[in-house]
Order: sequence, then C-alpha cells, then structure tokens
Amino acid sequence: MKYADSVLDLIGHTPLVKLNKVTEGIDATVLVKLEYLNPGGSIKDRIALKMIERAEAEGKLSPGGTVVEPTSGNTGVGLAMVAQQKGYKTVFVTPDKVGQEKRDVLRAYGADVVVVASAVAPDSEYSYYGVSDRLTRETEGAYKPDQFANPAAPDSHYETTGPEIWADTDGKITHFVAGAGTGGTITGTGRYLKEVSKDRPEGPVKVVVSDPDGSVYSGGTGRPYFVEGVGEDMWPGNYDPAVPDEVQPVTDAEAFEMTRRLAQEEGLLLGGSSGMAVVTALKVAKDLPKDAVVVVLAPDSGRGYLAKIFNDQWMNAHGFPTSGGSAETTAFPP
Ligand code: PMP
Repeated sequence: MKYADSVLDLIGHTPLVKLNKVTEGIDATVLVKLEYLNPGGSIKDRIALKMIERAEAEGKLSPGGTVVEPTSGNTGVGLAMVAQQKGYKTVFVTPDKVGQEKRDVLRAYGADVVVVASAVAPDSEYSYYGVSDRLTRETEGAYKPDQFANPAAPDSHYETTGPEIWADTDGKITHFVAGAGTGGTITGTGRYLKEVSKDRPEGPVKVVVSDPDGSVYSGGTGRPYFVEGVGEDMWPGNYDPAVPDEVQPVTDAEAFEMTRRLAQEEGLLLGGSSGMAVVTALKVAKDLPKDAVVVVLAPDSGRGYLAKIFNDQWMNAHGFPTSGGSAETTAFPP
C-alpha cells in the first residue's frame, strides 16, 4: 500500500512543469515549481512545519501549547494545519481589512481568529502587532513563530526547496527566480543553490528577485501595490541581500496580465505573485541560450484571487486592462 502517514508527510516534493506557450520566442527552458500542490495550498506549509518542529526541539512549544501569529494568509493555513496535527491550539490575529473568506479558511482548520482594526497606529496596544504580543504574553504555553525573523523559515527552504530543485534539474539549473515577502524563500533556496553549484565549470546558479514596483527590495519607497504576499515597505530579518544577484521590479499590470495568461494558455491557475515571478523569469530567459534552465517559483494557487485578478470588473475598476475574457451567459427555462 502506498500512503502518507499524515498530511504533514505530503509537504514539499512539489513538481516542476515546463512553460510552453508564454515562452514563445525564448530558447531557454523555463520551469515553474508548483507550490500550490502542498497540502495547505502554498509554499508556507514548509516554513510552518520547520518553525513548529524547531520550537518543539528547543522546548518553546510543548503539549497543550498555543501558536499565536499575526497572519491571515498562507502562513496561517500552514501553521493551523501543522499545529492541529501536532495537538496545539492556534490563534491568528488579522486586520479587519482581510476578507471574511480568508478568516473562514483558518477557522475551518479549527484555529481561533482575533480581528483587529486596520486603522490603528502600529505601536498601539490595539494594533495587529500589539494584540498578538499581548496574547502571546497572556496565554499560557504560547509561542509566536514570527515568520519575518525566524531563521527556521529560510532553513526550511535551504533543506527542502533548494535540494528538490537541484535534484529535479539534475544540477542543470542556471537561474532561479522568485519573489520576496519575508525573504525566507529567496534567502534559503537561493543560498542552497549557489552553494551547491559554486564549483561547477559553468559557474554558480544566478539568483534573481522578482519584486513589485514600489517595494523596497527593488529600490522603491514602499508605496502600495496590488500584488499580494511579496515586496516590503521595510527590510525583514529573513531577507539576506547578499544572496540575490539581481532584483527586478514588475508592475501590477504586467504581473496580473501574466497571471491570467498562465491560466488561459498554460492551464496553470496561480496567484499574482506567481504571475509576477514568471514575468521576470521570461525577461531573464529572453537573452539566454538553449541550454539555460530557468526555474521560477510559484508560491500559491489562483483560487484565492478569483474576486480580484480573475474578475474583469475588479481589474477594470483598478485600471488594469483585461483581454481574452470568456463569456458567462444564462440558459434558464423561460
Ligand atoms: N507569494 C505569496 C502569495 C506569499 O504569501 C508569500 C509569503 N509572504 C510570498 C510570495 C513570499 O515568500 P517569502 O515570504 O518566503 O519571501
């Protein structure tokens, strides 16, 4: 019989798929690593598992404990799933601007959610951070993983994401492209790939960050943009600027157009940060020879963005063009 002992054993080992349509005119091979195929639906399952296992090993989390984290997105899902399987409670603090559906996902896993006001100063005791710090202090056996600064996050990518890419490309990867939010993915994966390839004749893997135009990583001021999960308005502890060889800005319009094309032309329903990273991967690949292998990381699925990137009205209302749309008509009885 072939089965996993628990859902936790299904984290990682995600496949690479070649892009065939959006790569028209490109000679190099462009491969996408599909992280939505993790059981929690995103790359964040990897860091959730590692952060919790390390906290257990270090005695920071023990039976009856509670995981407290200010997050409403993919990291929350990963933590809720891993904590539940290991017998811990979870409490997530989310701003009220976060959609009800995202909070419902966390509650579906059995997590408690505390909603806080978005329009509060960051240093207030009622802010996102203020409330999560207070809950961590006041809850017995509480542990706050802190994905922005916890070294277990990049370590999980150094130990799993990087080696998987190296093995699946038989060491032929020449370029690695990914976005950076907390920076954990690019730091851990990029560091592993550069180290493992440093002595080969063709030189080490080149690491390129794809960044929302406006984010500090690509020299922006931190001004707002619509792509979710990537870019920053401050420099988190888990982003090591020594790892990337290059950082390229991508506009929301470019990212969203590519996200929609990936669904329509490649059969890949991916999130906006995936579309963004593919834009950069194609720019990188354009000038590369046939034997180059560009691997681009796709953090999550497009399911969470149906009301935005894949919704023509939302796109047009925010000034993004939509083309190649499909029709929805009715065929009801008269
Ligand atoms: N894309 C999405 C959708 C994300 O949720 C995240 C995590 N914030 C990232 C990309 C970036 O990953 P990292 O935090 O490891 O830099």
